[in-house]
Amino acid sequence: MEGKPRARLFVVSGPSGAGKGTVLSKVRELRPDLGLTVSATTREPRAGEVDGVSYHFLSEAEFRQRIAQGEFLEWADVHGHLYGTLRKDVDTLLAAGSSLVLEIDVQGALNVRESYPEAVLVFIAPPSMEELERRLRMRGSETKESMALRLADAAHEFELAKNYDVVITNDDLDRAVSELIKTIRLFEMK
Ligand code: ADP
Ligand code: 5GP
Repeated sequence: MEGKPRARLFVVSGPSGAGKGTVLSKVRELRPDLGLTVSATTREPRAGEVDGVSYHFLSEAEFRQRIAQGEFLEWADVHGHLYGTLRKDVDTLLAAGSSLVLEIDVQGALNVRESYPEAVLVFIAPPSMEELERRLRMRGSETKESMALRLADAAHEFELAKNYDVVITNDDLDRAVSELIKTIRLFEMK
């Protein structure tokens, strides 16, 4: 007989363009109960991004003030901009009994593990560097400089995948989605 699932904190990372956002939006359709937090960032909003929904878009001064006030569970400098998760959001969701998924970079993920040793770290990998570059180009969101920076950072990010609990290759989208759904369920039942 199956036991009762318990709320867990999942952290999803992987190189920019690997498909984290795409996989997670499908996972959320299948698991609408999963908690969602909105990160803060100092990068400029992309076309269509809404403040308070996609991210809390902050100036660098505001971001640094919040660091000083201890508001971040973790924060990191990613591709030249600051990004961080608000501690209050995570604690509120976990206290309410909801599992939640944070989509954050590799440095932030390892910092989360320090505060929450029970967090489950999932790395989403692209099938190859060539495919990663093709996907980033296809998304059309990056300038030439930002694209080069994201591809250069990808090599370092792959190195850190060995510290993750689970690595999922996002080759076929539906397969990757189902693997993440199964992983979440598995750890909720542990
Ligand atoms: P990330 O959130 O990791 O930066 P995105 O989810 O924005 O990546 O995906 C980058 C691009 O790759 C998008 O254009 C998306 O539609 C595409 N993509 C995502 N997953 C797949 C897949 N399995 N096969 C082909 N293209 C994909
Ligand atoms: P993007 O600029 O493409 O939205 O995100 C760039 C990177 O920042 C991605 O790797 C994403 O996972 C990471 N990121 C987004 N929010 C956070 C956060 O709150 N903390 C950390 N450490 N990284 C984040």
